[in-house]
Amino acid sequence: MCLICLDFQNQRLTLDEARRAFGEMASTLDPDHRAEVEEMLEQAAHDEAESND
Ligand SMILES: [Zn+2]
Repeated sequence: MCLICLDFQNQRLTLDEARRAFGEMASTLDPDHRAEVEEMLEQAAHDEAESND
């Protein structure tokens, strides 16, 4: 768990903002968690695409 997860899950960051934050912070996350955050953002993008149908 990092600031990106925390803020995104508390809806303090939009998906775009979370992606930007991830781009800036990715190098500071450990590789396992980096993969988890990537997955979280991908899942969110997928969910968003479906809800826009
Ligand atoms: Zn995190």
